[in-house]
Amino acid sequence: MNVEQLARPEIVAMKPYSSARREAPGEGVLLNANEAPWPLLDIEDRLNRYPDPQPERLLERLARLYGTEERFLLVTRGSDEGIDLLTRVFCRAGQDAILQCPPAFGMYRIAAQAQGADVVSVPRRDDDFSLDQDGVLDALDADARIKLVFLTSPSNPTGDVLPPGFLESVLERTHGRALVVLDEAYAEFCGQPSAVPLVKEHEHLVVLRTLSKAWAAAGLRCGTVIARPAVVSLLRRVIAPYPLPSPVVSIALAMLEDDRLKDQRDLLRQLRDNKKQLLGMLRDRPFVKQIFAGEANFVLLRVDDPGGLLDFCAARGVILRGFASDPALRDCIRISVGSSSDMAQLAQALKEWESKT
Ligand code: PMP
Repeated sequence: MNVEQLARPEIVAMKPYSSARREAPGEGVLLNANEAPWPLLDIEDRLNRYPDPQPERLLERLARLYGTEERFLLVTRGSDEGIDLLTRVFCRAGQDAILQCPPAFGMYRIAAQAQGADVVSVPRRDDDFSLDQDGVLDALDADARIKLVFLTSPSNPTGDVLPPGFLESVLERTHGRALVVLDEAYAEFCGQPSAVPLVKEHEHLVVLRTLSKAWAAAGLRCGTVIARPAVVSLLRRVIAPYPLPSPVVSIALAMLEDDRLKDQRDLLRQLRDNKKQLLGMLRDRPFVKQIFAGEANFVLLRVDDPGGLLDFCAARGVILRGFASDPALRDCIRISVGSSSDMAQLAQALKEWESKT
């Protein structure tokens, strides 16, 4: 199979935009991009110049971090942008569909709807939120419109990882007809091996990684699409010419220096400890009906009065996530693992809530 056959024909046929910085490197007397000749702000990044569309050094560093090669990478404004690009490239409006397993990360649906693609949902089971594996495979058999299958491991908001062998079954079932997008936004928090090495074997597998979670840099907006070069090249046809601001690239490179790896491991260790503490404080609370500990930096709970609890905590300065508009999660709240002092403030609020109810 040629993956281009799965893409929207108009994207394949389109002559891509060729930016000035892509045609000529940023050296010499630069009179080719209608830039100003000098910047007004005296900082190391020369802001008068357009940035490199896909900076080589950042690609090298991310390739090493994720255990792959530069040609398999596209750096994006967070994974959100990766999800959007994939949907725009592979789903024809009014004809194609994505498949998702709700409760799931909300941007899969938004990207599909913004593109005019249909959303085929295979809901997780009501009681334990486990994936309906047969349901996914059956839906693939029944619906030829599905072009993208979004899987998440660990998932948000349920925190679970993919069951063993499931990714392989979906890859087999989608071969030659759809792409599998495995969103690994929370991969660093769990002990499971990443699927990145599988990208070399499967031209229809795409893995999404991000610096937003375990690298503590949600504000940076730096995500990575990991896919076969043919997919990367299709996505590059629709991504904005200069998606990564120069200061973002400099900060990402500084943050990913080898000597900072220790800080990142410390962060993961601390968050793991704080999660244990969080789970300890939630256990045996009368208002907590069910705890989904999951394998990410958050926990999902079923509680008696989610709206009341959310408001009560918010009034004490502790902001938790509710899902009032989602019937499957009506009685759930999600709590991110915070600092020790965040956890102490939460513990106090929960104690007060318990004594009130
Ligand atoms: N995927 C999942 C599963 C997420 O939970 C999130 C953010 N909450 C994202 C992707 C978006 O990540 P980014 O900040 O890299 O856009």
